[in-house]
Amino acid sequence: MLKQAHAISEELIEWRRDFHMHPEIAFDLHRTSKIVADELEKMGYRVKRGVGKTGVVAEIGDGGKLVAIRADMDALPIFEQNETEYISQNTGAMHACGHDSHTAMALGAALLLSKENLPGRVRFLFQPCEETTDDEGKSGAQRMFDEGAVDGVDYVIAQHVDPLSPVGTIAINEGASGGGVDTLTATIHGRGGHGAYPHKTVDPFFLLAQVINALNGVVSRRLNPFEPAAVSIGSIHGGDAENVIPEKVELKGTLRFTSLEVQRQIREEVTRAFEITKALGGNYELKFEFGGMPLINDKHVAQVIEGVGRDLLGEKGVHEIHKSLGAEDFPEFLKNAPGAMYTLGTKIDGREVYELHHPKFDIDERALPIGTAVLVETAKRFLAESA
Ligand SMILES: [Zn+2]
Ligand SMILES: [Zn+2]
Repeated sequence: MLKQAHAISEELIEWRRDFHMHPEIAFDLHRTSKIVADELEKMGYRVKRGVGKTGVVAEIGDGGKLVAIRADMDALPIFEQNETEYISQNTGAMHACGHDSHTAMALGAALLLSKENLPGRVRFLFQPCEETTDDEGKSGAQRMFDEGAVDGVDYVIAQHVDPLSPVGTIAINEGASGGGVDTLTATIHGRGGHGAYPHKTVDPFFLLAQVINALNGVVSRRLNPFEPAAVSIGSIHGGDAENVIPEKVELKGTLRFTSLEVQRQIREEVTRAFEITKALGGNYELKFEFGGMPLINDKHVAQVIEGVGRDLLGEKGVHEIHKSLGAEDFPEFLKNAPGAMYTLGTKIDGREVYELHHPKFDIDERALPIGTAVLVETAKRFLAESA
């Protein structure tokens, strides 16, 4: 399979560079999704356009089990600072998360699978808007899920490039491998007044200081230390003048967790932290918004991917995922069927490492056929195992 994937290296690079040069953001993926859908039709797939706004769903084969392969297609609002010949032509937009390569590799996998006699079906999920959400707070995966993109699916797999790991490796884990997200929005109410008469006010900054302190204790003092979690405040706004104590302070933050039970506990403890404001004469409003599910890789699916990795890349070609509480919207697709996401080593040798979302992010394109081969081989194994 690796040989077959190497044979289409030129196509993979051509697709990847074309998407890289013409990045599109969020759900505005009209050019990208048209190219993807046209290519898939040429390969003989049954193609549905406009799923989840600008997503593309394409299926091939008959009967048997149904394996889904997901690729995200959206770029980021970043000014690219690379000096390659394929630098972004769309100023202010950049494929800094490698979704250009995810799309190219999935197209390559589609091409190779179209030449196989499959004992089942493969469905491709080309999704928009992984990086952000629309006005109603829904990401591309959520939109596609709502429109039935994974109905009837038996397994779902996906990959993400990893700029820290060398070409020729993949990483895969069973169980929790990425964070779920809640967004916190809050207002702390005090009573305003003159900065010279603090005793006549209820200073919302004083209340805030106690709340922040208590928030920092949520993970360190209230949760089981074996449970990964994070509580981070990223925005605080309040006051205008140096000698005026304002009425209120507003804050926003992010909560991360790897189980819904821990999510429930964090919400409870964060609420308790804000209750301090009442004991000190103030008050608060607090709102949590659910941002996404944690990534829990299915054991069996992870084992199959691991086996494929070892067979194609050798013992040293498979390692443990760099776990983080960073979030992905891929877990949305796992609400119907078991699945897993692995990472693909794309580190460029002899160059400083620029991580995902950096304006100098790039990949070693020699990883493209490897990711393509792993997708194809994994899909084939699921179909063979159930045939
Ligand atoms: Zn990203
Ligand atoms: Zn990404």
